[in-house]
Amino acid sequence: MSYNYNHNWINGNKITTSDGIKVINPATGDVIGEVPKISEHEVNDAIVAAHTAFKSWSNYTAEYRADILEQWAQNLISKQDELAHIMSEEQGKPYAEAYGEIGVCAKFIRWNAEEGKRIYGEIIPPSSPQQRISVIKQPVGVCGLITPWNFPGAMIARKVAPALAAGCTVIVKPSSETPRIAIAIFDELMRTDIDNGVANIVTGSSSMISNTLFSNPKIRKISFTGSTTIGKQLMKQAADQVKRISLELGGNAPTIVLPDANLDIAADAIVENKFENTGQMCNGINTVLVHEDIQDEITEKIATRVQQLKVGIGTDDGVQVGPLINKAAVDKVEHLVADATQNGANIKVGGHKLPISSNGLFYQPTVITNVNPSMAIAQDEIFGPVAPIITFKSIDEAIEIANASQFGLAAYFFSNNINTIYKISEQLEFGMIGVNGTQLSVPQAPFGGIKESGMGREGGHHGLDGFLELKYISLSLQE
Ligand code: NAP
Repeated sequence: MSYNYNHNWINGNKITTSDGIKVINPATGDVIGEVPKISEHEVNDAIVAAHTAFKSWSNYTAEYRADILEQWAQNLISKQDELAHIMSEEQGKPYAEAYGEIGVCAKFIRWNAEEGKRIYGEIIPPSSPQQRISVIKQPVGVCGLITPWNFPGAMIARKVAPALAAGCTVIVKPSSETPRIAIAIFDELMRTDIDNGVANIVTGSSSMISNTLFSNPKIRKISFTGSTTIGKQLMKQAADQVKRISLELGGNAPTIVLPDANLDIAADAIVENKFENTGQMCNGINTVLVHEDIQDEITEKIATRVQQLKVGIGTDDGVQVGPLINKAAVDKVEHLVADATQNGANIKVGGHKLPISSNGLFYQPTVITNVNPSMAIAQDEIFGPVAPIITFKSIDEAIEIANASQFGLAAYFFSNNINTIYKISEQLEFGMIGVNGTQLSVPQAPFGGIKESGMGREGGHHGLDGFLELKYISLSLQE
């Protein structure tokens, strides 16, 4: 291994601390490292460094900034295998998924690097012969970026790349569950020709770091990805300084399967999405709504596929489903499954923990039938490998069930009727709709939700806009 994780990066320097946070391998329970527990004083140092660096970084050409980002993408790809191993060991996801995620990081970085060259302004027709109106886009300033553990690489790249491409400087605060991969990914950014202070990373107490970022007026924007509960708290904190904030929060994605769908394609896509990352995916399917005419057929197809999934330690060959992230996550899944069965649902596949290691974080891929939309398992974000199946009688009923959620991140449906496809896409109250497939997270498209799933978008030119301010310039000609 060529990485160690005993440092943060502030102003281009490796900062170590005497006090640290222990990092646990969720598959085994082993302590696999320790990362710094940074002090408030050092977070303030990072803010000053980023503020100072902003002056030059924001004045470089987009082409120059793109060159630095391209170096970062190349560094990540050159270490893809090693980084994937670190991620798999620390987060639990299968090695193949972690390897793919490092590739996705490079794609996000490259796309934003290029799109930064197309941050165009506007010329607007004036209201008098002497007036000239132009609108320019300028970087917001120093940004605080707070990321979760479930996609510990992609969530960093999806924020840092557009911020840097837009000309902002950043302070990243990764999840304490997955700080090692974040530091390793940052090591690769620091191996580029980037100026000191442009990008900083701090690990430690989330509330202290976040409070320090929010209370400092030099921080002009916070971009947060994580739970809706914490997102709501941060939104209130942002109000004090009318600080810009974007929020990528929890989801509860419904999937609707109609009788005219190709049921094999639907079953393949549902199982692939539902059990990716052990079900710990913000845009992951939460409930499967199936029409009564096809409920037996689609349930069998899903169940057959789920029974074949290989559960195990993510770094072992051929594993498709790893452990959950921690005990709270397993407890939540157990509670939701018990609540559902006590209220009349039936377990079709799985339904129990697996004794793969003494750490107790493995849960069988599970399919539950006879689920009612009012059950907690249908209302809450499960964030685990459990597929609850709900039966409906009409399209209108399915849409009503789907839209009843307070979340609005992603929804999916399967149909081969073009009229139905348009009607349902327009009526579902979600920020993203997957039709006959579940792939949503790509660099060029606006990823994000409505309702309590957040505000703002990551990806596409919309993602860059989140790190830009509009400035309107009215020039009065003097002749
Ligand atoms: P979380 O508990 O909200 O934590 C997210 C981040 O916030 C972590 O860095 C965490 O740091 C930090 N944090 C925790 N308490 C905080 C506080 N009081 N003030 C400031 N920061 C605080 O979420 P998670 O469990 O890591 O992630 C899972 C959630 O993220 C799910 O709900 C999922 O749907 C959502 N998510 C959404 C998207 C999207 O694009 N919409 C993408 C991925 C995940 P510590 O770990 O150090 O406490």
